[in-house]
Amino acid sequence: MSAYRRESPTLRYKDLANLRTGLAFDDVLLVPRYSKINSRRDADTSTRLTSNIALSIPIISANMDTVTEASMAVAIAREGGVGVIHRFMRLEEQVAQVQKVKRMESIVIETPYSLGVEAKLSDVRRLMREKNVGGILIVNDQGRLEGIITTRDIRFVTNPNASVSTLMTKRKDLVVGTWSKTTIEQAQDIMQDTRIEKLPLVDSKNRLRGLVTAKDILKRKEYPRATKDSKGRLRVGAAVGVKGDYLERAEKLAEADVDVLVLDIAHGHSQHAIDATKKIKKTLPETDLIAGNVATREGARDLINAGADSIKVGVGSGSICITRIVTGSGIPQLTAISDCSRIARDNGITLIADGGIRNSGDIAKSVVAGADTVMIGSLLAGTDESPGEIVFRGNQRYKVTRGMASMAARRDQLEKEGRLKPEGMREGEDVENHAEVDLSDYVPEGVEAIVPYKGGAVSVIRQLVGGLRSGMSYCGASNLKQMRANGKFIRITNVGIAESNPHDVITDI
Ligand code: IMP
Repeated sequence: MSAYRRESPTLRYKDLANLRTGLAFDDVLLVPRYSKINSRRDADTSTRLTSNIALSIPIISANMDTVTEASMAVAIAREGGVGVIHRFMRLEEQVAQVQKVKRMESIVIETPYSLGVEAKLSDVRRLMREKNVGGILIVNDQGRLEGIITTRDIRFVTNPNASVSTLMTKRKDLVVGTWSKTTIEQAQDIMQDTRIEKLPLVDSKNRLRGLVTAKDILKRKEYPRATKDSKGRLRVGAAVGVKGDYLERAEKLAEADVDVLVLDIAHGHSQHAIDATKKIKKTLPETDLIAGNVATREGARDLINAGADSIKVGVGSGSICITRIVTGSGIPQLTAISDCSRIARDNGITLIADGGIRNSGDIAKSVVAGADTVMIGSLLAGTDESPGEIVFRGNQRYKVTRGMASMAARRDQLEKEGRLKPEGMREGEDVENHAEVDLSDYVPEGVEAIVPYKGGAVSVIRQLVGGLRSGMSYCGASNLKQMRANGKFIRITNVGIAESNPHDVITDI
């Protein structure tokens, strides 16, 4: 008997007649419902990233190297979302990116930049430039505050060897607050009365313990919806993989007070991802962990059982993704969200819809399908805050976006690690200590592309949130929970899609 004949008939025979249909965003619309909401400003977009982390808007920026580093993470956190720093950099760099966000604004800076009394002007200028700050505290070798030096003190000083002790405002002339006693309101009053910009905080032994700056207090008012931790610092996430240094990375990121870790693996319903989820949660039980990506109920269940605090859903939905073409696998995103959402909700776990968001309507549909937040990649890649330069095609401005599993991204990663096999090198010619990888063996599941340059990320985010608010009003919902409960889908045809878009007019004017 041939091997083919021996195969079980149930394995061979697939019942194609009764297949389910998977739906994508464009397959449906939300049914307009009675609304008593007067203004879309009354629509409350607050949600949860995990049960511990509240957000004012349901948007997080993707951990892609053309989307999220510190600058994007700061912009989106100030708007009320959160950014996830990508992992395609050395561990120390990723930690530094997280620290940059955490330092950006805090009510109290706990470890202000400082120099010793023996420092010179050139040291001060270097530190100010490197850290982009306008004031350095001067301490003695026991950590006691000796003075402060600000840009104003050194503006016209030319001698780089000038000693800070001669340039600084000395301790006796400094206004200081008391560590753990001076409240923010008191600090604000002191700064108002004395017209100072920076208020160092010292303990009873005059040891430097913190710094409050007028800038940070003002920022608190400027961004009232910002996503902040209990110490008033912006929140930020960071991605880790499932191999190599991932556990050490997770630990170091946690030490840097990252707010949430994101397990970054394309096929999250895999033993690798389950094991990594368990290990990270066992090592860092206090740190929230988002695990993914999955697209099925079973996938979500297994990651939830492994300890995930949130599930990221999306296989093959991303704008730069070719997973479905290369592997033949995936689930249209609306169905994936809906399938995973029930088990997430039953377990009190949040769900992130990741990939394929093209407009605010897609966010509205994701929420109604069961998402608590959406992760956005390419839609934010064309902004000032995304890494990378503006490129020109003709006289139009663009920025690059690319899948993290694209050939271009892979090449850069290997090059950075010094593992790329030099072109023209033949088998057996490997230089010692070079674990060269041949790119021709790599099967990409992403592409490199360009997106139109859009200016600041804030305006893109605000357009999305504004559209979502209108969408909530069409669903008769004043908050996202109501929207999930009230929202109803209607399935449409290709004719319906054509009708939805501008038609019979020339828009290219
Ligand atoms: P976008 O918002 O449609 O651009 O989708 C962004 C999402 O695409 C990311 O958050 C990832 O989940 C996913 N993604 C990123 N790089 C790749 C890739 O190379 N292949 C497949 N999916 C990717």
